[in-house]
Amino acid sequence: MKKNDLIELMIEDIGTDGAGIGRCDGMIFFVKDTAIGDKIVAKIVKIKKNYGYARLMEIKEASPNRVEPRCLYARACGGCQIQHMDYPSQLVFKQKKIRENLIRLGGFEEAFIDAVMEPIVGMEEPFAYRNKAQFPIGQNAAGDIVAGFYAGRTHDIVSNTNCALGVSVNQRILETVIGYMKDYGVLAYDERTGEGQVRHVLIRYGFDTKESMVCIVINCKRLPREEVLAERLSQIAGMTSISLNINQKNTNVILGGDTRVIKGRPTINDALYLRDVKDFKRIGEKTVYQISPECFYQVNPVQTEKLYSLVLDYAGLNGNEIVWDLYCGIGTISLFLARSAKWVYGVEVVPQAIADANENARLNGISNVSFMVGKAEETLAERKDSMMRPDVIVVDPPRKGCDRKCLETMLWSKPERIVYVSCDSATLARDLRVLCDGGYEIVRVRGVDQFGQTVHTESIVLLSKLKSNKLKHINVELEMDELDLTAAESKATYEEIKDYVLKQSGLKVSNLYIAQVKQKCGIIERANYNLPKSENSRQPKCPLEKEAAIREALEHFRMI
Ligand code: SAH
Repeated sequence: MKKNDLIELMIEDIGTDGAGIGRCDGMIFFVKDTAIGDKIVAKIVKIKKNYGYARLMEIKEASPNRVEPRCLYARACGGCQIQHMDYPSQLVFKQKKIRENLIRLGGFEEAFIDAVMEPIVGMEEPFAYRNKAQFPIGQNAAGDIVAGFYAGRTHDIVSNTNCALGVSVNQRILETVIGYMKDYGVLAYDERTGEGQVRHVLIRYGFDTKESMVCIVINCKRLPREEVLAERLSQIAGMTSISLNINQKNTNVILGGDTRVIKGRPTINDALYLRDVKDFKRIGEKTVYQISPECFYQVNPVQTEKLYSLVLDYAGLNGNEIVWDLYCGIGTISLFLARSAKWVYGVEVVPQAIADANENARLNGISNVSFMVGKAEETLAERKDSMMRPDVIVVDPPRKGCDRKCLETMLWSKPERIVYVSCDSATLARDLRVLCDGGYEIVRVRGVDQFGQTVHTESIVLLSKLKSNKLKHINVELEMDELDLTAAESKATYEEIKDYVLKQSGLKVSNLYIAQVKQKCGIIERANYNLPKSENSRQPKCPLEKEAAIREALEHFRMI
């Protein structure tokens, strides 16, 4: 088998990045744009010793879970990785992704995770849900100005002003901006030459208030006839804030440092409602938020209401608690909780977000909160002694998860409960391991799908301070190691195999996985592998990609 060969595959599983997995002649192949149950023809694009990557060429038999993507560009655009899967299958995929990350990357036992994990909260309408869009502006081959998305891993812009995940006002705004650019000879920014003025159009829409915000990112200080642009945009119903953001750097970062309003207000408002966590119907109480262009605000407001209502539920407040809300943004969660707490501290690194958070406290008549600007890891270390010790900590970090120092201060402060909100279950798993090793246990885990059609999902976890007699994590891996070494004809140590796998494939593998693959290859007796001393014998299963890499190592050491 070699690159460019066509192979037939039956897709058996989906990896956490959304690529389908199938086998051919003992090799494992990863193929994007496929669903479990698809019978396909794929072209090999990259091949390693035991696994490879292939491109979908033809669907011979479609999976019963396959649907026609609603967007014409679903495959070309990197944004929606799983639009070809029906929504219930997407939710199954996400539930499994969270579960597997916790087991594999967090090292938690399978049966334990199954006991604490609740069913993912899905969306009623998994399209047109995003309140925010950032469209790059460019020129196509014919020289026309286009707004759309970057194709695949390139920076070529494919024109699409009507993203299926966005709101309909996006299209009108983009057409207005492009019309103005054509009329006044304004060019799109070209990152190769650094020429041209308009880089991106950022749009926000308040689902509750129906207010719109446009922020046009430019590669200059001023645009010609800005007042015409402002006037045309302000004809659009609900247009509340029109600004220019100046970014003259050669960078992938979208926003620059300066924002200048050309018409209307600098911010828009939106409101989020408390929901009943049983049926997720709105209860009525609402919190109002002011949002600046450069601040974080959850992109899916319907699901955010469910998420924040769950945060409140998990936090278990009775009005007397001190709460620390770390990575608080514009104070969204802080204010959602403040009415049920004694005092809430919010910490956030973006100064404008803290300015919005303070204004939001005022807008909602909430006075039992204080917000601090700074990195959570630094601000807490500096100010922890002057802050009231928390009963509950809420953390909601970006994808890279919490800084280690932040986790250490959290552990030092010994709250009764920690509510961890995460948009990346891999870093969540890593951080939960630190918190659990530091004296906490996971009580509840739940996915909340904020990002239909994509491989991403939000998760929420409740941790509770461990009572000292409850230390119950059993180190299955250690047992595996001992058992295996007594029975196996071990040519390479586990450490040597791990090192080899890491160097060859960049993958980290555990002793347990190595033992499982050895067992599959007949090197160790099944009895050893199957009898850990823990109460339950269910264990995480080695993923196919890692199995392939371990087999390669075993072959290298001539053990198979
Ligand atoms: N809880 C908020 C924001 C969550 S997004 C909400 O639900 O809206 C994560 C936030 O963390 C962003 O606002 C980002 O600016 C902020 N952030 C990123 N790194 C940080 C750090 N080291 N310390 C504090 N805040 C940080």
